[in-house]
Amino acid sequence: MDDCIFCKIARGEIPCYKVYEDDDVLAFLDLSQTTKGHTLVIPKNHYDNFLFVPKDIVSKVFGAAQKIAQAQVASLGAEGINILNNTNSVAGQTVMHFHVHVIPRYGEADKLKIEFMSNKIEKINLPAVAEEISKKL
Ligand code: AMP
Ligand code: ZN
Repeated sequence: MDDCIFCKIARGEIPCYKVYEDDDVLAFLDLSQTTKGHTLVIPKNHYDNFLFVPKDIVSKVFGAAQKIAQAQVASLGAEGINILNNTNSVAGQTVMHFHVHVIPRYGEADKLKIEFMSNKIEKINLPAVAEEISKKL
């Protein structure tokens, strides 16, 4: 994709702070550094988001994410990791090239809060929803 910023990084046309590279995958520091070491893992080929990525590439990207998480623990002293993907703008995706955030966590000191709160808008019928999803698999 000509005008995709992550394709440009993958092609070496825009600089990045590279953490890892192989034939299919590139990982580099997120410029926002939500916490110290916050890294993005991308496939070198362009896929708009998680929904469109072939299974073998998903596996390679998440395999690299695991290696990077282990290295963040070993090198930076992270005590935990958040693995995050935003799929589509409604979920907060701002760069439309599939990527996984690998975010090292350092306890209260890192000031990052990711909270899952119970749904307050509607009462959800759990057996029906589980059935709805599983019949499409
Ligand atoms: P998302 O909101 O999940 O699409 O995440 C996009 C991320 O890309 C944001 O956290 C940005 O800080 C990051 N980002 C955007 N441009 C660059 C860049 N040139 N190099 C590194 N990170 C970037
Ligand atoms: Zn791209």
